[in-house]
Amino acid sequence: MPVPHHPIAVVGAGLGGLTLARVLDVHGVEAAVFDLDASPTARAQGGMLDIHEETGLRALRAAQLYEEFRPLVLPGGQATRVLDRNAVVHLDEADDGTGGRPEVERGDLRDLLLRSLPAGTVRWGAKVTGARALGGGRHEVTLADGSAFTTDLLVGADGAWSRIRPLLSAARPVYTGVSFVEADLRDADARHPVAAKVVGGGSLFALGAGRGLLAHCESDGGLHVYAAVEAGEEWLDGVDFDDTEAVRKYVLDRFAGWDESLRALVADADGALVPRRIHALPVGHRWDRVPGVTLLGDAAHLMSPFAGEGANLAMIDGAELGLAVAARPGDTETALAAYEEGMFPRAKASAAESAANRELLFREDAPRGLLEMFAAHG
Ligand SMILES: Cc1cc2nc3c(=O)[nH]c(=O)nc-3n(C[C@H](O)[C@H](O)[C@H](O)COP(=O)(O)OP(=O)(O)OC[C@H]3O[C@@H](n4cnc5c(N)ncnc54)[C@H](O)[C@@H]3O)c2cc1C
Repeated sequence: MPVPHHPIAVVGAGLGGLTLARVLDVHGVEAAVFDLDASPTARAQGGMLDIHEETGLRALRAAQLYEEFRPLVLPGGQATRVLDRNAVVHLDEADDGTGGRPEVERGDLRDLLLRSLPAGTVRWGAKVTGARALGGGRHEVTLADGSAFTTDLLVGADGAWSRIRPLLSAARPVYTGVSFVEADLRDADARHPVAAKVVGGGSLFALGAGRGLLAHCESDGGLHVYAAVEAGEEWLDGVDFDDTEAVRKYVLDRFAGWDESLRALVADADGALVPRRIHALPVGHRWDRVPGVTLLGDAAHLMSPFAGEGANLAMIDGAELGLAVAARPGDTETALAAYEEGMFPRAKASAAESAANRELLFREDAPRGLLEMFAAHG
């Protein structure tokens, strides 16, 4: 049987790959998207994202989805509280509706993009295992089921551990020295009033030297919590995450002496606690043009989440790449060069900010650094 050919193939149906496919579709250009997940609902998408004007919102406008996005925004979600480990409140900012950084459920945003695509655009259960150049900008991509396809334009939108990145760069993500354990508290006002009160209506940053409890309200009335700890990469090795009570104790030991209202964010969590080691690519990661292939989002510029930009950047990358390709039919190389020229400096600036915030958040005098940053930004 002949190997199937797709003029444009996007590996990864995250926010970046989907935004690209949508913007191409708006301009009448077809793309095939491949994702290893068995279905759109295979993995919980948890967590709120705040969507920024110059990146995520601009991407949604390019995708002609801005109007459909508005009803998904969590009212009041931009409220922010900064506390220290004793639960002393240092900043308590209400959401007055003028913040310009609407909060949305990641899953809702992904569903919006998925619904906007022609049926069959995303091939689920399609795990890419590798890709090789065939010459003239064409590539052959192999899948875990042993099948393969060829393409004239290959886009790696496959996140932190991209299988496409090696075609362009030898860089690998490096551990940032921070590990998260994620927790959820469901129906917080009724079931977890202490935790609900300490978080408030939007986001909480409770910080002390080398650790933090970061939390936000979700649109279903739950709280999503990241217990963040400065620790060696091996800190979570050997922890049995099937034994939730043991994990809870292990994490709470790191927050010994913290106010009970803050410890409640972990002590009262419902369901499993989930480990997440935070990695990043080098600030300013870039590559020389390679015909017929490029990267977007985390595949191109994985960074720590401390600037809150990763998903926003993935979306604007997808939108700009889509616009560049649609504007230059038959001239992929010029389109890719134009896209990368805009993407590299944008990603570098955010990656530098994430790296700086990573240091500032966990300083000995935390939360001082974050408060100074908020004060400087007005
Ligand atoms: C704890 C945490 C909190 C965060 N908070 C925020 C925030 O508040 N705001 C913000 O803007 N960003 C945030 N981010 C960053 C954000 O999640 C990422 O930057 C964003 O999801 C990147 O999107 P992407 O489309 O590039 O990649 P991903 O979302 O990682 O999507 C990649 C897709 O590729 C698929 N895939 C992977 N490998 C393969 C393969 N071999 N074959 C086929 N498919 C494959 C995956 O299944 C996935 O669907 C946070 C990140 C973390 C870890």
